[in-house]
Amino acid sequence: MRGIVYLVGAGPGDPGLMTRRSLELIARADAILYDRLIPPDALDGARPEAELRYVGKEPGAAAVTQEETNQLLVELARAGKRVVRLKGGDPFVFGRGGEEAEALAAAGVLFEVVPGVTAGVAAPAYAGIPVTHRDAASAVAFVTGHEDPDKPEAALDWDALARFPGTLVLYMGIRNLALIAERLTAAGRDPDEPVAVVERGTHPGQRTIVGTLGGIAARVEADGLRPPAITLVGPVAGLRDTIAWLERRPLHGEVVAVTRARVQASALAARLRELGADVVETPAIRTEPRPLDGELLAAVQRISDYALVCLTSPNGVRLLFDALAETGHDARALAGATVAAIGPGTAAGLERRGVRADVLPEQFVAEALVEALEPVEVEGRRVLVARAAGARSVLPDALRGRGAEVDDVAFYETVAEPLGDAERAALARATYVTFTSSSTVRFLLESGARPPEGARVVSIGPVTSATAHEHGLTVHAEAERHDVDGLVEALTADAAQRRVPA
Ligand code: SAH
Repeated sequence: MRGIVYLVGAGPGDPGLMTRRSLELIARADAILYDRLIPPDALDGARPEAELRYVGKEPGAAAVTQEETNQLLVELARAGKRVVRLKGGDPFVFGRGGEEAEALAAAGVLFEVVPGVTAGVAAPAYAGIPVTHRDAASAVAFVTGHEDPDKPEAALDWDALARFPGTLVLYMGIRNLALIAERLTAAGRDPDEPVAVVERGTHPGQRTIVGTLGGIAARVEADGLRPPAITLVGPVAGLRDTIAWLERRPLHGEVVAVTRARVQASALAARLRELGADVVETPAIRTEPRPLDGELLAAVQRISDYALVCLTSPNGVRLLFDALAETGHDARALAGATVAAIGPGTAAGLERRGVRADVLPEQFVAEALVEALEPVEVEGRRVLVARAAGARSVLPDALRGRGAEVDDVAFYETVAEPLGDAERAALARATYVTFTSSSTVRFLLESGARPPEGARVVSIGPVTSATAHEHGLTVHAEAERHDVDGLVEALTADAAQRRVPA
């Protein structure tokens, strides 16, 4: 196959702003050459065998030169590879993508360009600043602030920029800001014109300051803003007062640690991110399926004998259906049984597999399920409780007490997932730590990790809270509904309360 190079924009930092095309190309690439300012996790979708190479330029450090990067792109393509050249923002906006395309064209290498969301538009947008506005700016100029304003050969025409009838968006200029502001005002731009500086735009830690052209450099210095940052000059900066939306999201500024198993974390993480939280995944546990033999295999083989099948987690549902499939069954195997789910996540898992739960308690704990099962005739009947090894025996005990013949079968085991260094560091930044089960509490604390000083602890329900107390933790908020939505609600209410000025 003929090699090809894709010059791809990865957007300004928020992974949600990567284009669909960029993700497709990353997933199919043989080699990816990437820069420093690409979103975290941008390469997660790459094939395991893809060659990933960092070719960014650290400020001040020796690194791969542009010439070397161009050469590498040509060589990889000539070797027949699908190459993704991944750049922050848009590849053709101050990304040297133009030079790379020229080098590829000169070498006769096939290439395509995939635009990205550029920081100069995205960072202001996340700060509540439209770069154009019918009443306030009819034009916008993208300007590099990297030029040394004292260089006689500087390419920037300060007089023209001062006269420019619209918004100036300055990339790379934060270190030169005092000089830039001076040049612009000396050339006649109004020192009282509004200016905004957006640091790490679209990233969780985005910071914005607004001032005037005359005063902004001092503010940036005082607040210690650092690259990457976009500086925006123009009346539209004044619209931030009304339009700023990011900071108004209920969990803006909160760093929330999710301790549940990584495979289960995504729904909770997504809900929290939607509300503006910076979510860090610090899984304390992992579930390990039990091999399909012994009492597990026996239970699955006589599945049609059960009058009642109780499922206590989405994991249990998934593993039960996997086991059914492996033994030549499908959803019809449950046709004759009453099916009970402990909570909505479990019920949703069943529903996806074509089974509607007959029994779903209002509270999502074993005691409530016991109560909800009261009308179900179980005396002398066979009951399957599919659950985690070492789970509480409230449910099987109660059913046995009512004369049922209970097979209490562990479909999986919950095991400790020790935190890595990066996860420990992430946990240390948390302002909230969430616990969705007793095992998340137990395994996190037993691994030696702890919620950091001052962090608020949120638990999914009374059983988890009790385990937290046993381990010496204070629980600041407990979900009323013992599921992900309930947990998010409790956390959000707690955050809102703390935001109300005393
Ligand atoms: N091709 C990129 C720009 C690369 S030049 C694009 O289209 O966005 C690097 C400069 O971009 C930085 O110095 C900074 O000014 C700006 N930049 C990149 N990412 C940024 C971000 N997340 N927030 C603010 N500025 C950013």
